[in-house]
This record gives sequence, structure tokens and C-alpha cells, in this order.
Amino acid sequence: MKKSVLVCLIMAVLCSGCDYAWFGRGLQEDAGGVTVYTARHYEADSALFEAFTKQTGIRVHEIKGTAEELIGKMAQDRENAVADLFFTVDGGVLSNAKQADVLQPLRSEIIDRQVPQQWRDPDQYWIGVTRRARVLVYSKDRVRREELSTYEELTDTKWKGRLLVRSSQSLYNQSLLASFISLNGKDRAMQWAKGVATNLSRAPEGGDREQALAILDGVGDVAIMNTYYFGQLANSTDPDEARVADQLAVFFPNQLTTGTHINISGIGLARYAPHKANAIKLVEYMTSREGQTLLVNKSYEFPVNEEATLPKLLESWGTFKAQELDFSELGAHQQAAIELFRLADWP
Ligand code: FE
Repeated sequence: MKKSVLVCLIMAVLCSGCDYAWFGRGLQEDAGGVTVYTARHYEADSALFEAFTKQTGIRVHEIKGTAEELIGKMAQDRENAVADLFFTVDGGVLSNAKQADVLQPLRSEIIDRQVPQQWRDPDQYWIGVTRRARVLVYSKDRVRREELSTYEELTDTKWKGRLLVRSSQSLYNQSLLASFISLNGKDRAMQWAKGVATNLSRAPEGGDREQALAILDGVGDVAIMNTYYFGQLANSTDPDEARVADQLAVFFPNQLTTGTHINISGIGLARYAPHKANAIKLVEYMTSREGQTLLVNKSYEFPVNEEATLPKLLESWGTFKAQELDFSELGAHQQAAIELFRLADWP
């Protein structure tokens, strides 16, 4: 009799242990998910999400696609959508998402402290996460730094056959030209596109990285490209790519005029986010000093949180004057930019 009581007791303790463990797991799964629709396909993002999961137990599910696809899916699925957050590059795309009514304001005092106002949508429909500058990268052997000044100067005949830039189908180029339309008007933007297209050393091919590699191969002397690709190449484990660090340099154009073109990556809370609290927690982490330091030391983008520690290379570039432009302008002039590229024969 006594024995069976003991067995029962042991069973009860074991079972409650099981129960507890099961319940614990259940709890974590319930409280523990957040789904990010992401149009950014950078390894650094996944590493950041993993660090967040380690710290909070909240799992991050990434669903990747183009920004257009993901916005379309959220618009179509409405309250049945699984998206909690929408993460993308480009201020124009972020403002498109806002207008497509697939986002809702994201309110958090922590985020407001971490991200300066200028990198947030005025209505909090998106929060900036990183910044990137579209700069000039040049061969230290074949170009003297003093020869460079502005984007506009690249249309000078002295650059004939020496410029490298990717196709006009790239959103990065479309936003660059959109910024010129906004700052200088369509006519001058058109002249610029024509002038650059005339001076190209080859028909556009490859992404931004390929433009830098082409300078190493002697195909051209100056490339228009985003800063972080330079950082990734310079820190590459592939010695061929790492030559970028010694042989090429970065120049921030238009420092005495309108400033260097910058763009933003940002994240917004989905209109029908099923895990709103977790989504806000994730954005708080992504914009924290720790999250930002982790992210930019892998992606080589610029942080939005000024307390983040920069990689040495970015620190060596110092500060620079950036274009002062409402990011919604980039989206507003995108179609006009595409049309100008066509007229300018920039494929
Ligand atoms: Fe990119």
C-alpha cells in the first residue's frame, strides 16, 4: 500500500514535470513568434534576428520576396495575412507601402529615443533601420581624388569611356535620378542621365559589387555604387575582392552643393499584425545600440542609432553632407526617372 502511494507520488511529480515542460514550450511558441516579410536579402539580417531570438526566445520567421510581391500579398490577404512586419530597402518603397494601406503606426517610446525623427515616417508607418549612401568609388592609381567633385561633373568629356554603373532597372539608380528630379528638375536630371550614359566604359552589367570589381580589372576608373558593397568587398575573405581595400577609394560627392544621395532601409508594422507586441519588441531590438552595432558590422551600412559602434572602415570615412530630401519624393518621381533613363539611352 505504502509502495503504491509512493509510486503514485513519483508519477504525479514526474507528470507535473512533464506538464510543466510541455506548458512552458507551449507558452514560448504562443508568445514566441514574429513573421517578417522582407525584401532585404542580406545575411546580416538573419544574424541579427538570430541574436534577437537568443535574447528573447521569440522566433523570427523570414518570408522573402520583392517589395512589390510582399506589399501585394499583404493587400490581398488583409486580416488573414501572417505578416507582422514589412522590411525593405528604399524610402520610396516604404512610402508606397504606407499609401497601399498595408501598414499601421508603430508606437514605442524606446524606438523614438533610439531613432532620430528624420529617419522615421512622420506618422510612424515606418521606422528607418539603416542608411546607405550612393557614392563614387575610384581607382587610386588612375584617378586623383581632386579630380572628383559632384555627380554632375561625371558628365564631363574627360570621363568618356571611364565610368561604371549598373543598369537603370536598379531601384538604386531610379532613386538616385528621382532625387535629382526633385532637387534640380526634370531637364537637368535628363542631361545628367544622358551625360553619364555617354561616358560609360561598357554597357551596364552586374550589380554594384561588379562595378568595383570591374575597376580592379581595369575596365573603368570610377563607379557609382552604394557604400556598403565597398565595405563588404574590402572585408571579404576572398583575396581578389579584398584588393578593393587597397586599390580603390570612396568619394562622397556634392559636399559643397546638394549633398551625397542617401537612401534608407526601414521596417513597418503590418496593418493586421497577429503578433504586434513581439513585432514592436523586434524593432526595438533592431534599432537598439546592440542590434545596430551587430547589423552594421556585418552589412557595412550606416546605422540610424547614433550610439552604435561603426566598423573601422566606416569610421575612417568620417561624416558627410547628405541630400536633404523627403524620402517620399523618391517614390513620387520613380516613374519619371524610369522614363528619363529610357530617353537617355541608359539601359
Ligand atoms: Fe543592396
